[in-house]
Amino acid sequence: MSASTTIKNPGLLKLDLTIRGMKISRDALATPEISRTLRLSQEIGAALELDIVLPENVMVNIPIRECLAEDRPYTLTEKDGRFFIIGGDAKTEVWVAPLAGFYEKKTSTGVSMAKIGRTYAGYLAISPTPVCEFIFQELACRYCDLEAKKGRAWSVEEVVETVEAAVAEGVAEYICLNVGYTDSPDGGIALLEPYIKAIKHRFDLLVCVQAQPPTSDEWIDATYAMGIDSIAYNLEAYDPDVFEGIAPGKMRLIGRDRYFEALKYAAKIFPSGAVVSNLIVGLESIASTLKGIDMLAALGVIPTLPVYRLATDSEETMGRVEAMAPVFLHLQNALKRNKLSPTWISHFNLALNAIDGHYFGGEAPLGQRWQKVLKSKHGGRIAHSISNVRRRLRVRPADDEVG
Ligand code: SF4
Repeated sequence: MSASTTIKNPGLLKLDLTIRGMKISRDALATPEISRTLRLSQEIGAALELDIVLPENVMVNIPIRECLAEDRPYTLTEKDGRFFIIGGDAKTEVWVAPLAGFYEKKTSTGVSMAKIGRTYAGYLAISPTPVCEFIFQELACRYCDLEAKKGRAWSVEEVVETVEAAVAEGVAEYICLNVGYTDSPDGGIALLEPYIKAIKHRFDLLVCVQAQPPTSDEWIDATYAMGIDSIAYNLEAYDPDVFEGIAPGKMRLIGRDRYFEALKYAAKIFPSGAVVSNLIVGLESIASTLKGIDMLAALGVIPTLPVYRLATDSEETMGRVEAMAPVFLHLQNALKRNKLSPTWISHFNLALNAIDGHYFGGEAPLGQRWQKVLKSKHGGRIAHSISNVRRRLRVRPADDEVG
């Protein structure tokens, strides 16, 4: 399928942009949206991403450094303040989110807030501590940003200041906290507790957590009791060999079976649709991903489907794009079959590159209800209407959360 065909279907375009990438024209590189992102990315020595809103409010995020290569099938261009993506002889207008303003701020301790938190389509991702037993034992996940794990832990106050700045700007309506693995019964979640309590106490925000399964189910009860709204234990791949290859620490120190047990138990404790697990599309065979989707959905778990980025333009990668497309339709059908609503996690998916199955022949979009990426009157804000999500999860006022 050529780029000029793909460009007409926002779901397919998102998939293709994620896998094969795009380059940026000289005009677009000079715009404040792009030049500030590139400059800050270089200043803080970290890979910042561009949030791009495609037609029908489909959002894709692309690491800006990947856009500097030439061999890409798409080009982002700019003309008279409007952005377009060109593929072959077709083009489509898109919106490029400006760099979040809080990225250029510092905490009271002098740390760049861009190092602490990253915002994606309305959620703020923070990894407060670099501690991870997998890294100590040289069993790090293959996708781990090991450079980022060389620093110190952020203090609770540094994290709260960053959240405050992002919330004040209107670019964070919920928080995703990530933590590595510790060789203790809680598996690492206890490290996050002070941060979770402080955020819940100070802000009326949903908090989701990505962690490793604890050794006992009591710690899953404790996780829910901390006030977390959604939990992810990420499997990454269904195939055991691929799982071990991509996440050797998860396989050897925790075990694949424990992931399934913990996910199943969590799905009974947390509200429906609030327990999730990643399966990275493109890491393993499509047949294996489909099996993983069925297995997770049957346990009451929402599979989230980030796409394995190749960022190369070749016939082989183009073939992979076409092969991957049915996976998203399969997910939509599996959720329906198991009566699982992706309402909560769909916000999260905006940044994880999951794509609504209707773009590949499924039913009419659930999406238009929730994929509202709004451009504020100030022009720099991405906001989501998540009042329905709040009602659904019955988030209590922050004062009730902490005794
Ligand atoms: S769990 Fe994996 S990705 Fe997370 S910190 Fe540990 S090694 Fe890195």
